[in-house]
Amino acid sequence: MWAATAQTLEPLPSLKADVRADIVIIGAGFTGLSTAYHLSSRFPDRKIVVLEAKRVGNGASGRNGGMALHWINGVEVRDPERARRLYAVTTETLKWIAEVAEKHQFPLRFRKNGCLEIVTNQERAEEAQKKAETLASWGLPIQFLQGAGLAEKLRAKGAVGGTFDPTTGQLHGLDLLHGLRGVLLSRGVDIFEGSPVVSIDEGRDHVVTTPGGTVTAPAMVLGTNGYTPSLGYFRSGVMPLHSHCIATEPLPLERWRELGWGDVSSFSDDMDRIAYASLTEDGRLLFGGGGNGAYSYYYGSRTSVPTSPDAQYAFVKGILDRYFPDAADVRIAQQWTGTLGITLSRVCSMGVTGEHKNVFYALGYSGHGVVLANMAGRVLCDLYADHHDPWLDMPFYQARLGGIPPEPLRWIGYNAFTRLTGRSPRRYEAHDKLPKKPR
Ligand SMILES: Cc1cc2nc3c(=O)[nH]c(=O)nc-3n(C[C@H](O)[C@H](O)[C@H](O)COP(=O)(O)OP(=O)(O)OC[C@H]3O[C@@H](n4cnc5c(N)ncnc54)[C@H](O)[C@@H]3O)c2cc1C
Repeated sequence: MWAATAQTLEPLPSLKADVRADIVIIGAGFTGLSTAYHLSSRFPDRKIVVLEAKRVGNGASGRNGGMALHWINGVEVRDPERARRLYAVTTETLKWIAEVAEKHQFPLRFRKNGCLEIVTNQERAEEAQKKAETLASWGLPIQFLQGAGLAEKLRAKGAVGGTFDPTTGQLHGLDLLHGLRGVLLSRGVDIFEGSPVVSIDEGRDHVVTTPGGTVTAPAMVLGTNGYTPSLGYFRSGVMPLHSHCIATEPLPLERWRELGWGDVSSFSDDMDRIAYASLTEDGRLLFGGGGNGAYSYYYGSRTSVPTSPDAQYAFVKGILDRYFPDAADVRIAQQWTGTLGITLSRVCSMGVTGEHKNVFYALGYSGHGVVLANMAGRVLCDLYADHHDPWLDMPFYQARLGGIPPEPLRWIGYNAFTRLTGRSPRRYEAHDKLPKKPR
């Protein structure tokens, strides 16, 4: 759907030579292009090359639910200072997204009228309300909505309440990436599309090989999130999981009001296999997730989707119909699949690795990367400049990833785990360095 409503751009040429660069970036999603943007701003004289297997935005960044959210997945905060700090860093990125478009005068659909996290039973509604009240008492603009307040935003069947953050919203990821692509090209950054990296010879100078040529560079950025294990990195740290989405034909927003969607960009629910939905300004409803049937893991961490996942799309449609029974007849216009990078703890990691400390990475956003992968550009640019201080206290800074077993245990483990937890509510682990608040 994002692709169907994005500007059509001519493909960029693929790499057809052996070239030298100061920095080679693999992947042209939010991580890759935000990193290229910050590096080219701070180091305008360095030669930067971006290698993209397919097209800019081919990965999750061009296929997601559009929810531009605060917080770091997998991290529960129990301390006001800490909460304000984490909220402030994601606020900066939300601002950066709007400012970069403004500064470089490119069109960006960024609908900032808030996202809602609904709860579907009374007990969790009480917990969510307490949590929202605590966050509000710490000065954060979080509200818990019920009754008429909730109905004004959303009338999803089974929603008992919802946590609303008016500072969040919906981002058209391809608008941002296409805008950044233009800025980067005008700065002399080389972006090669259709240039899959097939091997990496890591060293003081890395040699990165594609079918048409190589890039030799003393610094490399892995902007490949869920695809990273196929490059030989983070095999036990990140696993590609595929999320299947559908989108309706466009309907007038007044019609959506009648069908149950009010004044809100997006919502997600409180299930472990989260359901999420976004309504675009031109009235298309995007829907994904909602149970095991909406996600696929392919044996061996394969990242290509083997068959048309019709059963998964039908499953997602069933969840849409359950939340909005009156919209069951609205025609589905698009369906697609996107690849997530999941970590065991759901916390992402950003850092630098390799024998020569020259492999920069940010990955494992676990379905929560619209803001974080755009923040990664600033983080990785600072790490490249050997300026680690601003990020030392962040839960994702050099966060240790691991624990995902090799096949066939991975396959068995995934299937057993999803069967056990597929219908359970979302749980958060505390990965913050702060001591837990006594219960
Ligand atoms: C269906 C779906 C819904 C989501 N919804 C949300 C949401 O609503 N809110 C939210 O916060 N997050 C959401 N996410 C997560 C978010 O979209 C991602 O975390 C984020 O886009 C990751 O960005 P990235 O640049 O790191 O990775 P990607 O966007 O996946 O980019 C990686 C790029 O690397 C390229 N690549 C891979 N292998 C190679 C290779 N060998 N050589 C060269 N290039 C290669 C790929 O083609 C791709 O373009 C969702 C994800 C999916 C899949």
